[in-house]
Formats: sequence, C-alpha cells, structure tokens
Amino acid sequence: MELQDSVSDLPFVGPTYEKKLEKLGILIISDLLHHIPHRYLDFSKITKISDLKIGEVVTTIGTITSIRNQTTKTGRLMQIGQIADDTGKVSVAWFSQPFLTRMLFPGTKIAISGELSWFNKQPAFFSPQYEKIEEDHETVHTGKIVGVYPATAGLSSKWIKARIKYVLDKIVIENKLDDSAFKKIHFPKNMDDTVEARERLAFNEFVDLLTKAKERKRKLIKKKGITLNINQKEISKFINNLNFELTNSQNKVTKEILNDLSQKVPMNRLLQGDVGSGKTIVAAIGAYATHLAGYQTIFLAPTQILANQHYESLKELFPNLKISLVTANSKLNEGSNIIVGTHALLSKTFKKVGLLVIDEQHKFGVKQINFLQKVNPHVLTMTATPIPRTIAQTLFSDMDLSILDELPSGRQKIKTWLVPNEKRDGAYNWIKKQITEFKSQAFIICPLVEESTTETMKDVKNVIHEFQNLKLKMGSTLRDKNLKFGLLHGRMKEKDKNAVLTEFKDGNIDILVSTPVVEVGIDIPNATIMLIEAADRFGLAQLHQLRGRIGRGTKESYCLLFTENSAEKANQRLTAMTKITSGFELAELDLKIRGAGDVLGTKQSGFGNLKIADWSDTKLIKLASEAVANL
Ligand code: ADP
Ligand code: MG
Repeated sequence: MELQDSVSDLPFVGPTYEKKLEKLGILIISDLLHHIPHRYLDFSKITKISDLKIGEVVTTIGTITSIRNQTTKTGRLMQIGQIADDTGKVSVAWFSQPFLTRMLFPGTKIAISGELSWFNKQPAFFSPQYEKIEEDHETVHTGKIVGVYPATAGLSSKWIKARIKYVLDKIVIENKLDDSAFKKIHFPKNMDDTVEARERLAFNEFVDLLTKAKERKRKLIKKKGITLNINQKEISKFINNLNFELTNSQNKVTKEILNDLSQKVPMNRLLQGDVGSGKTIVAAIGAYATHLAGYQTIFLAPTQILANQHYESLKELFPNLKISLVTANSKLNEGSNIIVGTHALLSKTFKKVGLLVIDEQHKFGVKQINFLQKVNPHVLTMTATPIPRTIAQTLFSDMDLSILDELPSGRQKIKTWLVPNEKRDGAYNWIKKQITEFKSQAFIICPLVEESTTETMKDVKNVIHEFQNLKLKMGSTLRDKNLKFGLLHGRMKEKDKNAVLTEFKDGNIDILVSTPVVEVGIDIPNATIMLIEAADRFGLAQLHQLRGRIGRGTKESYCLLFTENSAEKANQRLTAMTKITSGFELAELDLKIRGAGDVLGTKQSGFGNLKIADWSDTKLIKLASEAVANL
C-alpha cells in the first residue's frame, strides 16, 4: 500500500464510503492519515456527576435520559435535556440547535465539557461542548486517551479510527514511512504524545506547502510568457476619463501590474484589497492594456452573479470593446476582447489570451486553473480576504503581492455593535423600524453548524429553522405581515440562488436569512443592516468580509453581532470588530488572539485549509521556511 493510493483500496471502503470520505477531502491514504482527532477525551480525568460543582469547568460522561425542544418566553428555541451516570443526573441546555434532538436521543452516550452553572434553579451545563461516544466499552476503558474525529458526512469517529488503525498497522509492516508521529497523533499514550506529534506533522505540512510554492516559482521563471507592449498614452487617457480619481494605492498597484505585463516572465501577482477598495478597476486597466497590445483578457469569477456583475461594469467602462459573458451553454465569440465567466470557462480553449484575472482565488482550486498554462498568460489573482503576512508568504511565496490598503474617499464606516442577548428583541424591533420607516433591507446570517468549509444538510436545516422562527417572531411582534423574508443557502440550485438575490436586489425581499454564502462580492446598495448570529464562530476576516456586503450605498449601515459565547477571547475578538475597520488589522489580530488550538472558526476563516498545522504558529513557519531555503 502506498500513501498515494486511493482510499478505495482499503477494506470496508466501497463506493458509498469513498464518496463520504471525499466530502471530508479524503481521497488517498495520506489524506486519511492526516485526518487527525480534533480533540481528545482524557478518560483519566472524568468528573462523576455527583462530584460536579457549580462554576467548575469539567468533562463528565453520561447517557442522555431525555431531550426536547422548548420555546422560551422570548421565542427562542432551546434544547433541554438530562444526562445520567451511575452517581446521578444533571441538566444540559443549548440554544437554537434543533437538530440536536435528532442526534442525541435517550440512550446516547455522551461526553459534556463546560462550566456547571444554574438553569431554571437547577445545576446545568449551559451550551456545553459535547461529543457522542461511540467507542465500545472496551476501548473506553482500556485506552485512557481517546482521539475524537469530527464525525461529519455520516462517518462515525469509530469507523474512521478503525480505517486509520488498519493503515498504520499495514504501513508499519511494509515499513514505508516514519510513522511514529502518525501513531502518536491517532493513538496517543499520553497527552504529551499528541503535542509532540502535532508539532512534527505541522512542521512537515508547512515544509510541504513551501516546497510546492518554490517548485511553482521555479517552473514559472522558466516559462516563456507574452511580453506586452504597453500603450501608456491610451491608458493614461482612459484613467483620466474615469469619473473618479484612483486612490494612491490603486495608482501604485496599476504601475506594478503594467510593469509585469511588459516582462518576459508571466506575471503571477496576488492583489489583496478590502471589500470596496476598488480591485475591479485596477484589473480592468490591466485588461485594457492587454487589449491595446493585441491580446484577450479572461475574467474568471467564482459565481454567476459575480460574473454578471463584472460583465456589466466592464461594458460600462469599455463601451467600445467586445466583451462577452460566457455561461456553460453559451458559444464562445472568438473575437471578444474581454471574456467574463465562471469555471464554465475552464472547459473552453482560447487563442490569444494575454491576461487571466481571477477574482476571489480561494474559491477555485489551483489545479482547475492549469487549463491555460499551455499559453502562459499573465495571471492576476484578486482576493478580498485579508491574508496575514505569514500566511501569504507561506501559501503564495511564488507570487508577488500587491495590496490596496485604502478605500476610495467618502466611504461610510459601518457602525458595528456587539449586542447582548437580552437586547435581542429590541434589536429585532429596531431592524423592523429601519425597514418600515427607512425602506432599508437586512441580512441575517447564520453560521455553519459544524466546523466545515462546505455546507451540510444540518446547516441548511439550521438556517431554514431560523428563517421560520424569525418569520413568526418578527411578523408577530408588531403584527406586521408586510415584512418579506427570503432564504438563501449553499445547497440551493444556482438558478434559485440567483432568483432570491435578484428579488433582494430589486427590493422585493426585506430580510434575507442566509448562511455565509453571501460572503462573496455581491453588491446590494440598499441593504444597510446585517445581523450575524453566533458571530464568535467566524474568523474576524470572514466577519469583516460579511460586513462588507453592507455599507455600499449612501445610507448609514449597521452590523449587529450576536453571540452566546461569553468567553473572554470571543468577547475580545468581537469587540475588536466594533472598533477596527481595516480587514488586514483584523486578520492579524485574529491570528494573535486565537492562537493555536482554537478549532472552531478557523476552518471557516477562508484561509488555505491546513490539515494539522495552525497559521498562528509563526515560529514553526519560520523554522520551516529556513529548512526549505536551505534545501
Ligand atoms: P472590490 O475591491 O470590493 O472588488 P470594486 O472594484 O467592486 O471593489 O469597487 C467598489 C466600487 O468602488 C465600485 O463601484 C467602483 O466603481 C468604485 N471605485 C473604485 N475605485 C474608486 C475610486 N478611486 N474612487 C471612487 N470610487 C471608486
Ligand atoms: Mg470585487
């Protein structure tokens, strides 16, 4: 067995399980080994229920004896239950997670971690972390430390563990790899093992990323690109005719790009700029320069909505150019100067491409973009995700970095508030008033339920539930049936998503309840309010991007952050959101505050998906860079 072999080579992995594993990003044996426990249950430190004390943070294990959904007086849905062990019973309560009652039914064995406090005058765990325990009795009692795997996509922790055990045993026999770190991370003897192994594997992961970037760079500088003749006179004329002045940073970045285009080596530049910093015009100038030099530009957008948006703005900027919008079904007009589209473009071939602009790069796989490599166009990648320096230098060390670090003048700041739970009703009423009196529109964002980069059915159920809940609630508070709600999530068909967004844009929907799919650059100037549920579950950079969906028009905009997490760190992070307006500052700060080991939220932050390492580990990144530089 080789690390590169497909997981389908494993016993018990047929087509069904292969698909499920694929959902977790596990395609080959190596992926499986890198799928590590997200936490460990230390069975040597379990508190019995009779020994629980108010105010102590502990882990306890028991069996669910009852659990049900219950609506509170203020209209919120709670999940209230009891767990028991051989010494007693204790209550547990969660907020707004109706799916829990389907997952944790009486008889389920469960570990609860959290602080014991009071609820309904009884001791209770309030919004504790929980872990279903699927281990059979024996494993639980023999192994003191048990790794728990994120059991998503219908794969239990136990099943995953058995497959990993098989691989590790087999690989040891075949002596194919230094497996000690993998053994320690999957089947630790003590907690020190897990720390040591994680560090080793994290180091390897950074080395791997840096080596790959180095290799890409090596290949790139050997390529013969297209040297464009820059028609500076026409370009300046175009810039002077714009109905606004470029910001200083737009001017600087434009220069960098034009210079790249005139070189022999193909450009490979990453343009980072906050939402609204005006990346499109900079790319458009590059496209114009490319056109003047006799070549085409391809504009790749992550969604059809964004492709349409780019298409419209480019047509407006260049009324005399041939610009075409390509969808999956449309024919390609060979003579176009600029071609805009989504990944549907990836299946077409082009003759005279000089420049490829990729908007929101992290939505595409690097592999997908290889289609054009035969013609070696210049590549400009744009992202609104503020990427902290250390990360950019690791993931994209083969690229040159440009940054738009100022917003065009006259932009409004978005007022951001961290709203305490007891003011929830007040907030709803305030939103309602804004909508009815000032004809504003609002987003309500529900986070993904699980730590995941894609939406699961649970996420969809959660957002649908919130949608129905709000419809009832906001509709009944002031007996106003005129509020119109819309629903948006990632599992909807592209066509339906577009329909909802168009309705919202046209003002036919007042409140759009959505998962974070709205993150990417849609432009709805009249949407001036955004309420974000469980805001602590997002990375600050992602919150910032979400917030960037509002504040696009002339009206004052407001972002309301809700959280039920009272932890100091969560509070500190969210408070930063209310004070800091720069996406870069927020991203760096988030990295600092959260540090390593904070699992929830990191994967939703939109950065490169590390399997094991943590981007906040700057020391390790430095060590890995040195190692790779010395190679
Ligand atoms: P993003 O960087 O988020 O993609 P856009 O390129 O969509 O931002 O620009 C947002 C808006 O700002 C657009 O309407 C664009 O025309 C406008 N804009 C861009 N640059 C400037 C500028 N220098 N001054 C005024 N408005 C600008
Ligand atoms: Mg944009």
